[in-house]
Amino acid sequence: MTNFNRPSMTKQEETHWQTVLTHEAGHAVACLELLGKSADIVVTKYNVDFGNYLAKFCCSEFLQTPPCTHAVVFDVMAAGAAAEYKILGISNSKGFASDLGKIKTVVRLAPEQVSTVLQQEQSVDYPRVRALVQKQAKALQAIAEAAMHRVIALFSTGKLQPDELLLSGDCVKELYDRFKI
Ligand SMILES: [Zn+2]
Repeated sequence: MTNFNRPSMTKQEETHWQTVLTHEAGHAVACLELLGKSADIVVTKYNVDFGNYLAKFCCSEFLQTPPCTHAVVFDVMAAGAAAEYKILGISNSKGFASDLGKIKTVVRLAPEQVSTVLQQEQSVDYPRVRALVQKQAKALQAIAEAAMHRVIALFSTGKLQPDELLLSGDCVKELYDRFKI
C-alpha cells in the first residue's frame, strides 16, 4: 500500500496531540480511580494559532454531582498536568491554568474559598495526584495511545474536527480496567 496523497502529521502536530491526549488520559484515569466513572474523549476547538484542536474528557457533569468532593474535583483536574509531567517529563502550564479555572466553575465556590482550597492543595505539592498518576501510569499510557491512533486515523482521512469522538467512555473504562494496578 502506498500513501502518496495521504497527509501526515508534522512532528509539531504529533507532539501537540501527544501532550493533549496524555493530559486528557490523566483526567480520565483520575475519574475512574476516584469515582469509578468514565466519559468520552472528544475533539474540541482550539483558538490558538498552532495546533488547531484540543481534546476533552467530558467529565464536568458528574464532577458537579454529589458525592463528588472538592478534593476529588481538584485531583481530577490536576491529574491532567500531572500526567504530562509523569509521562512526557514536562507539564503544559497552559492546560493546567485552564483546569484551575474550571475548578472554580465546577465546585461553585466563592473566589476566596477557591484560593484557600487551591493553596492548601498546592502547598503540599499534589502528593495524592502524583501518587495516583504514578500508580496508574500504564493505564494512562494505554488510553493516550489508543486516542492517538484515532487522531492519526482521523487526520489522515481529513476528518479530524470538533466533536469527533476519539474514545468512548466504555472504551476508556475498558483500557483502564485492563491496565490498572
Ligand atoms: Zn485539563
